[in-house]
Amino acid sequence: MTTALLDVRRIFVEPAAAVLPRGKDVLARWPEAELVEVASHLQVPYGAADVQRWVRTKSEDLVLGVKKSLTARPNGRSSDWIAPSTANGCAMACAYCYVPRRKGYGNPITVFANIEQITGYLSRHVGRQGVKSEPNQCDPSAWVYDIGENSDCSVDARVSDNVQDLVEMFRGLPTAKASFATKHVNRDLLSWDPQGRTRIRFSLMPREDARLLDLRTSSIDERISAIDAFVEAGYEVHLNFSPVVVSEGWQDRWSALLTELDDRLGPATKSQLACEVIFLTHNDRLHEVNLGWHPKAEDVLWRPDLQQPKRSQTGGVNVRYRTGWKGTWVRQLEGLIGQRLPSCRVRYAF
Ligand code: SF4
Repeated sequence: MTTALLDVRRIFVEPAAAVLPRGKDVLARWPEAELVEVASHLQVPYGAADVQRWVRTKSEDLVLGVKKSLTARPNGRSSDWIAPSTANGCAMACAYCYVPRRKGYGNPITVFANIEQITGYLSRHVGRQGVKSEPNQCDPSAWVYDIGENSDCSVDARVSDNVQDLVEMFRGLPTAKASFATKHVNRDLLSWDPQGRTRIRFSLMPREDARLLDLRTSSIDERISAIDAFVEAGYEVHLNFSPVVVSEGWQDRWSALLTELDDRLGPATKSQLACEVIFLTHNDRLHEVNLGWHPKAEDVLWRPDLQQPKRSQTGGVNVRYRTGWKGTWVRQLEGLIGQRLPSCRVRYAF
């Protein structure tokens, strides 16, 4: 199966994944692909030279593995819990993407074949939480599970049925909701009948920024055009304004985007709308990798004049906008949302 995003020619495969039903399904989608056996999905041998083929790797390679550690981590921002991943990596190529931070010089989709273990773990986890007694910004009454922290579920759904299995499982869990952010419009999802138990967060930024930074994603126009259809199909739809990148004229660009959303979104969407706002953080290692394949993006992402460093737990240096300035900018954008898109509640902004 070949799409504009995926033209898989090589699959790195763990033997234990290849024998599972979901693993067989994935392999059957690309019967012509070369199979390369790997002991672990974490040991795919990309080296520094592979940065030169960063985008080709995303299109032509796939990794098929078994997810070994199954844990749901508390979050409290985009969701109450981060669910164990059913995939990581991505066929799209956003320049600011943090997903490659642990994957080094290549970041294709890794898909996990042990979906039954993952859904079994998750449904037991949901059961243990009981009923949510205190509303919070994630949701007034449902425990929200982010199922796409390390990938884009709308693209993952072109690789396997893992995401559909999760959406169908959450349909039967009245105390919980699945949630994921996306930059890809996959209309196959419109037929899944989620019955309000999956929240899609369409990720948006001004067109001018997206043209430089959101490589291989659906266009901003396509994403905005899809929102009402997803609400009508039974999804809860929120907006993910992320990352907010500060450069000359950023407030005007955001103001135009918010005005356009107010003009184009229908009443059913607006009646349930909320957003999250996340200003850019970046990382010195990703900066080095990006210089190898998309240096122009680093002109706006790597701004030591505006940013301050903080040593990360994994040893690199993360940068974020300077304290004081950032607080002012967050308040400015919240003010713009209130003026231009007043139907949209801000779930959190930082
Ligand atoms: S869509 Fe998400 S996961 Fe994919 S490259 Fe962009 S930021 Fe990364």
